[in-house]
Amino acid sequence: MTNTNTQPEVNIGLVGHVDHGKTTLVQALSGSWTDQHSEEMKRGISIRLGYADATFRRCPGVDAPECYTVDEECEDGSKSEPVRTVSFVDAPGHETLMATMLSGASIMDGAVLVVSATEDVPQAQTEEHLMALDLIGIENVVIAQNKVDLVDRDRAVDNYRQIQEFVEGTVAEDAPIVPVSAGQGVNLDLLIDAIETEIPTPDRDPGENARMYAARSFDINRPGATAETLKGGVVGGSLVSGELSIGDGLEIRPGREVDEEGQTEWRPLETTVRSLQAGSQDVETARPGGLLGVGTGLDPSLTKGDALAGQVAGEPGTLPPTRNEFEMQVDLLDRVIGSEEGDDDDGAVEEITTGEPLMLTVGTATTVGAVTSARDGECEVKLKRPVCADEGAQIAINRRVGARWRLIGVGTLS
Ligand code: GDP
Ligand code: MG
Repeated sequence: MTNTNTQPEVNIGLVGHVDHGKTTLVQALSGSWTDQHSEEMKRGISIRLGYADATFRRCPGVDAPECYTVDEECEDGSKSEPVRTVSFVDAPGHETLMATMLSGASIMDGAVLVVSATEDVPQAQTEEHLMALDLIGIENVVIAQNKVDLVDRDRAVDNYRQIQEFVEGTVAEDAPIVPVSAGQGVNLDLLIDAIETEIPTPDRDPGENARMYAARSFDINRPGATAETLKGGVVGGSLVSGELSIGDGLEIRPGREVDEEGQTEWRPLETTVRSLQAGSQDVETARPGGLLGVGTGLDPSLTKGDALAGQVAGEPGTLPPTRNEFEMQVDLLDRVIGSEEGDDDDGAVEEITTGEPLMLTVGTATTVGAVTSARDGECEVKLKRPVCADEGAQIAINRRVGARWRLIGVGTLS
């Protein structure tokens, strides 16, 4: 039967500058490596969001924080007891992948900001990612001051002060800063203790409508599968509310693009839940937390190659509307963040103008929109690809600055 104890119950984002040790930290806590994509391997960066589950454990008879571990065996040879299983969402640190980081933000219940002690604070994406957490409203933050094995005491203390100063006035102002070495496995007990305290599992109502944000989708069939062995399409993502059980009806929006006599439109997909994988186990019923794989009755060609990434799934008839255009209230940042050292474009964010293209992240969907009308604090956009979103949804707004998309503000769908 299903062991639901190890289904992760909370999603924790790993954010921070490239090479500061996010993937190494996830590996130290979970024993798995999130960079699984072959192209990611080659480039050494996590292109797509990678999930890795970790079960935090406690050694009996030992006080916190020293009691915390991820090992099954304690130092004295006794067996540790599981406390909580969490799912880490390893976000890419490379700046052009900001959109992916933001789409992960919609499914994060909290975040660990990884800051290397070997560099001055803040580095470009340290600032950009913290600003994104601030904008999206992720308040439960723990800061891991990593690579302390590479610096002497004075440098570590100096760097710690820089971090404190940097987070002042942000959502991470009161976040604990835990010096660690992900590489050497130092102070992981203190880090787990901080996560247990600062990033609790949210209260959830199982009676709410099931709502799932798709981050990936797959065709799991080997080439040459026959009609009898062919498995339906699989959608991967996170439930943010409600529960999903085998046999439930499932609607996916915006769905698929259909072309009829030169007219294209998006039609929702409808299917049933045939299998559920949560925390790498088959389950009958899935709850929010971790990466969920939903086996469906869909033609696998519809789910191949992340075709449904960014879409929303849930009980038929309960999903938000599909929008080809929308109006949003806009809050712009004071200045463009994440500029490189030596850049002189660390300037003010200018008002949005009619006609300009914006890259918008809504839930796990990223789409480009053209501004059709812009007024003070408000604008209307027409999208290249529609999104499924409710009134009040938060939208990360990116503008092309030079060769890159830069986060310039946040919108609220009106
Ligand atoms: P990411 O880009 O933030 O995911 O960073 P990675 O986890 O890929 O780490 C970047 C490099 O730093 C790798 O070569 C790691 O082996 C190294 N690294 C990460 N954490 C530590 C640490 O605590 N100490 C030392 N010495 N090296 C580390
Ligand atoms: Mg990485």
